[in-house]
Amino acid sequence: MPRIQISRLTMVGVLLSSFAVQAQSQVFTVGPVEAGRGEKASGYIMIPEGVDEGTTIPVSVIHGERPGPVLALIAGVHGYEYPPVTALQNIRREIDPRELSGTVIIVHVANMPSFLGRTIYYSPVDGKNLNREYPGRSDGTLSERIALAITTEVIDRADYVVDLHCGDGNEALRPYSYWMRTGIEDLDSVTREMVIAFGLDHIVIDDDRPSDPGESTYTSNTALTRGKPGITTETGGLGLNDASSIQMAEEGVWNLMRYLKMVAGTVRLQTGIVWLDRYEVVRSPITGIFQAAVRDGYAVNEGALLGTLLDFFGNVVGEMRAPFSGIVNYVIATPPISEGEPVAMVSHIKPE
Ligand SMILES: [Zn+2]
Repeated sequence: MPRIQISRLTMVGVLLSSFAVQAQSQVFTVGPVEAGRGEKASGYIMIPEGVDEGTTIPVSVIHGERPGPVLALIAGVHGYEYPPVTALQNIRREIDPRELSGTVIIVHVANMPSFLGRTIYYSPVDGKNLNREYPGRSDGTLSERIALAITTEVIDRADYVVDLHCGDGNEALRPYSYWMRTGIEDLDSVTREMVIAFGLDHIVIDDDRPSDPGESTYTSNTALTRGKPGITTETGGLGLNDASSIQMAEEGVWNLMRYLKMVAGTVRLQTGIVWLDRYEVVRSPITGIFQAAVRDGYAVNEGALLGTLLDFFGNVVGEMRAPFSGIVNYVIATPPISEGEPVAMVSHIKPE
């Protein structure tokens, strides 16, 4: 497996140059943040008040001494997902711009209202899920205006995009990445190598994202619909900020930067990857309480009990079962559940 991947990496390496065009200028600007060659700068993209309140997005720009690609790293699209936020703070501290080829844009906390409000999925301001609002709109509510700022100030400026997530505050999650296929061969080859280089050993193959740039919906799909490689990663969950999830995200970013030839060093290749060729998010038909019967990472057979639904008095009112045999990517591991919300995501293992 590693041997095959090395030869593929070499072969597709020539494609990389065609995706990297932007970081040639002496000063690189994101919103009000400017970094000269060999410099690191931080500041805030301001989202002014509109139909509702405004907010700020803390960003850093690390502009390498040498030219190279622009890599955007985005954390905190969901505000209750902490390990990527801490991982990118560490990355900002550790990258030496004098040793960097190209430019790294870091979005430290994309969704400040949800982060400070400690909300899962939805913004406390407008009740919307930021990761369903791309590419965003200027006359929309706060989540839509944040999405537009990230689309225009960050994704439009980047050559490669990584949207770093984890299980939300209610989700126990086994680490994995999404490889979103577009049907465009060059793009799909590079994103395949990006998820391998990021190093998580479970990879969900996702063919179901919209292709219209005006309806891109998700953060990394906003890059893909604009012809740029973008991936989504998931490390951690349950509102924890544990060292191993932070480290996994950090190592993933460093290895990806080696793959993109932005920093020196050998690309470490993940072996024994479990490719997951379809998935289903199983959703609750009721509002009440969910009691999980499985944990993240469990292998389940079709029909296996994922968990039990209770009413608020403790009476069992339903059972949630696996739609097919596969792996539990994540499962809701705290009691509240609302009608239509996920109870678990189950993925099918691609045959060899
Ligand atoms: Zn998320």
